[in-house]
Order: sequence, then structure tokens, then C-alpha cells
Amino acid sequence: MDLHAGNLYWPTTGPKLHHYPPLRKNVRKQVAIIGGGMSGAIIGYMLSRHGISACLIERGEIAGGSTSANTGLLQYSNDIMLHELIDQIGEHQAVRFYKACRSAVNQLYQIASELPRNTALYRRSSLLYADTEQHLPKLKKEYRTLRLYGFDTEYLSADDLYLRFPFRKPGAIMTRGDAEVNPYLFVQTLVEQAVRQGMEVHEHTEAVTHKSRGGLHRLETADGAVIDADHVVYAIGYEPEELRGKLIKAQLNRSFAAVTAPQRNLSAWPGNCLIWDTADPYFYLRTTPDGRVVIGGLDENNRIPVKSEPLRNKRIHRLHEQLQQLFPMLDAPLEYSWSATFGISRDNLPFIGTDPGWPGVFYCLGYGGNGSVYSMIAANLLLFAIRSEHHPVADIVKLDRPSIVQIHN
Ligand SMILES: Cc1cc2nc3c(=O)[nH]c(=O)nc-3n(C[C@H](O)[C@H](O)[C@H](O)COP(=O)(O)OP(=O)(O)OC[C@H]3O[C@@H](n4cnc5c(N)ncnc54)[C@H](O)[C@@H]3O)c2cc1C
Repeated sequence: MDLHAGNLYWPTTGPKLHHYPPLRKNVRKQVAIIGGGMSGAIIGYMLSRHGISACLIERGEIAGGSTSANTGLLQYSNDIMLHELIDQIGEHQAVRFYKACRSAVNQLYQIASELPRNTALYRRSSLLYADTEQHLPKLKKEYRTLRLYGFDTEYLSADDLYLRFPFRKPGAIMTRGDAEVNPYLFVQTLVEQAVRQGMEVHEHTEAVTHKSRGGLHRLETADGAVIDADHVVYAIGYEPEELRGKLIKAQLNRSFAAVTAPQRNLSAWPGNCLIWDTADPYFYLRTTPDGRVVIGGLDENNRIPVKSEPLRNKRIHRLHEQLQQLFPMLDAPLEYSWSATFGISRDNLPFIGTDPGWPGVFYCLGYGGNGSVYSMIAANLLLFAIRSEHHPVADIVKLDRPSIVQIHN
């Protein structure tokens, strides 16, 4: 399945770091990881750091899937606001989940600081503005809820906002503790480091069958090689066809993103913060270290990325107009634009955890705008699962959680 179409930006920011050979022999590991995107890379890095032997296989190339279309925002605030999540799963669990997301952003920052290469992971604040007056009450409620549970948040009235930003909106909240990253470089560097820590990696290696007997799992690749492992991790992004409807109650949409040429001057953009709005679907934007602006949004209920350039450009033009309304002085033209499949789960939470009917099989499917943060949480949960320990967040994201079991596809 083609996960994106168009002219991607991240792969142009540097050469592919390494080519990994296809798997040609049989191997025996503690863990087999299927998928070499953000999820597989973070998991592989964490496992190898803890001395757990692992083999990662990727059907295409490392970071070539949804990860290269990812716009690189690392936020602890979710597509579902904290007060809405409290209504959905209760105060205790919702706050616990938001705190886990905040810790995951911190952990990603810590990991990046230990890597041998700068992966453009920088701390950023996030500005969430009300798109319309009607959205103000829910924005204010979110502000009060975040404050109540100790999240570093500030409310900006329309006038406060206009003092700092060149646009007028009914109100906004500024949260501190988020980050941005170059996802393509980050994932390649994580995999490179995981290999140094002992992980085995094979590109152009597709898992085609998976059987198990007596607690041992056997994967066979399209080329006939075999991986025997105690645990298998499915980090296959939006492609778990055989699971959809059964365990994975999700909707696949398509989204759009674009990147401008470097702007002459970004001084009108306080702190290079991440910006998003309360619209549905939301519009979001960030800057890059070389002065570009990344814009995204306009999600549509169709999983196939728009391949036709004229049709894609129509949507991209609308995104660009939204940028120009906010920052009229940022007049550099667009240089890159793409359309990509984007999955959202039916209860706005990721699918992470052990298959309820198949011991030793672990899923890391980070649906939603916070996919990278969820991948970090998944790596932590997997380490607990391997040690047969129960992680405090496990019940919130497990595949057979009540909020998902009740949904009929
Ligand atoms: C336009 C857009 C913007 C986004 N922006 C953000 C953002 O700002 N922040 C954020 O956190 N998230 C964002 N996301 C979501 C993000 O892209 C994903 O959550 C994350 O990057 C996906 O990583 P992944 O490893 O789960 O999936 P992928 O990167 O898709 O990796 C899965 C890999 O599995 C491989 N695979 C599948 N089946 C097999 C098999 N049988 N054998 C071997 N390999 C296999 C695929 O080839 C693929 O490379 C965005 C997504 C889109 C589309």
C-alpha cells in the first residue's frame, strides 16, 4: 500500500545513512521486530540498550513509510483533549495517560541528546488557538484542566495573543514541554545506534508468515529466511490488514503537508513554537532549523494519498493560504508538498500491547497525531511485558480495552 504521494521534505535533509542487507540466513533472537519506521526504531533502540537481542526487518527502507511523511511535532497534548479523555476513561486514567505522554516527550529528548548525531530534536512550546468563538469554552476548560493536574500551561486572551503573534484569534493556550524533530534523521540514527548496541537490521525483507509453537514464534520472509523469536513486535504502522476490524478499530484518512523555502526572517514567530488550532480537522504548523515553515492538515475521509499533482495542489494551496493569513510577512514559496495516509483510532487512543489471544505477540500501532510519542510509550510497555511486569499505562492502550471493545466496526 502506498502510504504517501508527492514531494517529501525530510529525505532531502541528508543522505540515507546506511543500507542494510536483506536477511538471507536463519536467525534466533529474543525479539523480532517487523517494521522499520518510528515505532520499530524506538523499540529496537530501547531493547538493544537493555541488552535484549533483536532482529528488525523492514519490507522497504528504514524510515520510508509513514515516518518520512511525519511532520515531526512531539506533543503531550493529544488529538483528544485532557478534559474529553477524562469524560471517556475517567480522571485517574486520563491524567495518567497525559503524564505518560509528557514523560515520553522528555524521554525522546533525553535519547536524542545521547545519540552521536544531531537529529534536530529541539524543545518547543505549543500554541493551541481557538479557531472560532464557539471553541473558546472548551479551550478554557482544557486550560483549567491542564492547570489542575500540574501541566505547565498559560491562557492567552485575544489581546494577549495579538501582543505576541501577528494574528487575531479568540483565545489560546500555550503549553510548555513539547519538542520538534526531523523524524527521518532521528529514525535512521536510532537504528544506526541500535546496531552498534547489537541489534540486527535487514531492509527489503518482508515477513510473510508467522506461526508459533510451544511459546516460540517463527517468522518467514518473502525470500524464505526464518526468524525464531520469543516475542514478535508488529510495528507496521497503518498496514495491519488482517487485524483491522478484529482488534484494530480505526479509520484510515489522508492528510496533506507542505514545506516552504527558508523564510528571510522568522522573528514574528515567538520561540519557534508549534502551532495548532481547535478546528476539526485541525491546521498545524512549525518551523525547521533552517528557517522553513511546515504546514499540515485538511484530513479527508479517504485512505488513498492524492497522486494527481493538480488535485493535490488544490488542497496544498488552501493550506498555504491559512499560513499567509496567520503570518502575512512569511512570503517564501512552497518547495515540498505531499499527501499521506493517516490513521486515527475510533477512541483516539493508540493500540499498544500484547495480543489478548496470542502470547508473545506485541503491537505498537500509534494511530493519531502523536504517533511518535505513542511509539516511545510502546517501547516502555514492551520492556515491562518482556519482564512479565504490568505497566501502569498498559490497560489504557491495550487492544481489548473497554472503550474499544464496545465499538462495533
Ligand atoms: C502527514 C502526516 C503527518 C504526521 N505528523 C506527525 C507528527 O507531527 N507527529 C507525530 O508524532 N506523528 C505524526 N504522524 C504520524 C506518524 O507518521 C506515525 O505515527 C509514525 O511516524 C508512524 O511510524 P510507524 O513506525 O508506526 O509506521 P511507519 O513509518 O509506516 O513504519 C511501518 C513500517 O512497517 C513496514 N512493514 C509493514 N509490513 C511489513 C512486513 N510484513 N514486513 C516488513 N516490514 C513491514 C512498512 O514498510 C513501514 O516502513 C503524521 C502522519 C502523517 C501521514
